[in-house]
Amino acid sequence: MTEPLTPTPTDKEVLGWAHTARFFTTAAQLHQLPETGLPEVAFVGRSNAGKSTAINTLAQTKRLAFASKTPGRTQHINLFHVGPKDAPNQLWADLPGYGYAAVNRDAKQRWQKVMADYLQQREPLRGVVQMVDSRHGLTDLDRQLIDFMAERIYAGEISLLVLLTKADKLNRKEQAAILRETQELLASYVLTEQSDIGVSLFSALKNQGVADAARQLQEWVSPRDEAEQGPESESESDDAAPTADR
Ligand code: GDP
Repeated sequence: MTEPLTPTPTDKEVLGWAHTARFFTTAAQLHQLPETGLPEVAFVGRSNAGKSTAINTLAQTKRLAFASKTPGRTQHINLFHVGPKDAPNQLWADLPGYGYAAVNRDAKQRWQKVMADYLQQREPLRGVVQMVDSRHGLTDLDRQLIDFMAERIYAGEISLLVLLTKADKLNRKEQAAILRETQELLASYVLTEQSDIGVSLFSALKNQGVADAARQLQEWVSPRDEAEQGPESESESDDAAPTADR
C-alpha cells in the first residue's frame, strides 16, 4: 500500500514555523553547547555578509540575531529554538561572523578552531546555511569554511545551503550569473552522490528567497536518512535544487 504523499507546506506554513524562533542560550565554547537531541542548523558567514539580517528576516523579528552583535557576545555561539513552544523541533546556531579585519590574529586563530571543531564535531548538526554577499560570491575564506566540513558534506551527513545575500543590489542578469557561478564552483568540489547542496538568491530587503529558505530549513527537521526513506525521496531531491533554478 502506498502512503499518501505529504503535501508541500505553503509559504505561510513554513514562515509561520520560522517565526517561532526564539532565543535559547549562548555558549562561549563548544563543550558548553547543550545536548538537546534536536537537529541543529548553523548560520555562518563573513562579517557583514548579512547573516543577522537573514536570520531576523527568516524569523520575521527585528532583533533576534542582533543578540549576537551585543558587546561580549560577538564571539559566542547563540542558539535559538524553533518549532512549537512546548516541543521545539530544531535548533538554530548563529556562529560568529568570520573575516572581520579588526579582530587580532590570536582571536582569529582561536575562533577558526572553534568554527572548525564545531563544523567537524557537532553531532546534531544537520545543515549549514552560509551567507555569501551576492556581489562578491564565494571568497577564499568562505571556501576554507566549507573545507572544514567537506568530509561531512561529501558523506551527506550535513547539507549546505548557500544564500547569496543582498540580491537586490544586482540586476537580473547579474543575479543569474552569480547563481550559476556559485553552483558550478560548489559542484566542482563538494558535489558527490550523497551530498545535498543548494544555492539560492536572497534579499531581506525585497523578501526574495525567504520562504524557500525557510522551507529548506524545515525539511532539515527530519534526519537525512529518514527524509530519504520517505515516499517523497524523488521529489525531495528535486526540492533541494529549486532554489538553484531561478
Ligand atoms: P552580518 O555581519 O553578516 O550579521 O551582517 P548584517 O546582517 O549586519 O548586514 C550587514 C549590512 O548589510 C547591513 O548594513 C545591512 O543593512 C545590509 N544588508 C543585509 N541584508 C541586506 C539585503 O537583503 N539587502 C540590502 N540592500 N542590504 C542588506
